[in-house]
Amino acid sequence: MTISYQSLSLKEFEEYNQLLEKKDGMDVLRWAYDTFGDDIVYACSFGAEGMVLIDMISKVRKDATIAFLDTDFHFKETYELIERVKRKYPMLNIKMVKPEVTVEEQNKEYGKELWKTNPDNCCQIRKIKPLERELAQYNAWISGLRREQSPTRKNTQFVNQDNRFKSIKICPLIHWTWEEVWMYIKLYQLPYNELHDQKYPSIGCEHCTLPVEEDGDSRSGRWSGSNKTECGLHQ
Ligand code: SF4
Repeated sequence: MTISYQSLSLKEFEEYNQLLEKKDGMDVLRWAYDTFGDDIVYACSFGAEGMVLIDMISKVRKDATIAFLDTDFHFKETYELIERVKRKYPMLNIKMVKPEVTVEEQNKEYGKELWKTNPDNCCQIRKIKPLERELAQYNAWISGLRREQSPTRKNTQFVNQDNRFKSIKICPLIHWTWEEVWMYIKLYQLPYNELHDQKYPSIGCEHCTLPVEEDGDSRSGRWSGSNKTECGLHQ
């Protein structure tokens, strides 16, 4: 039987989480690929958690599909990292998911620097709509959310009913700490974004990401100076 957002009741989501309660991230990934086969995609931002998950996923499914939301506004270091990851994991199917609207079209329609004048709209055009199109092709998706990242993420489960994208969202790293993410990266000598060594714990688009102070929370450099804390992908 195909398991999809539409076919699962809330109670069944709870049952899956009970089943996986004592399991670790690798067990969750094995369960996810056994359950969804090719009908699952990892939406990866190529941050530190992304490096861990790509490595773990490649051990479960060598030719898994990884989708990167290419807003056209990422740091050059991020694009370089993606090329390094492609060389290290040549079997993975890494897709660059682009917005339907080019930067020039966006500038013409909404004015230059929409990320300043209306960042929600900019994220809607360059992240949310493209992800919506991408996720419509699968029954489930994987995300690297961790509970300690922010108050809005503290109730995340391994298996989540994603009402925003009408999908099933699997989060294998919910219990991981920032220190554990880096221990894994160092232990397996994984590639990572060199901006992490320059006080950028969380890396998004270049226009909306600043370095953070030592004692700042890991996402405080994102949309710094505005009330915005999430791009809208995780609600
Ligand atoms: S993070 Fe900033 S630049 Fe990127 S899509 Fe959102 S508002 Fe636009």
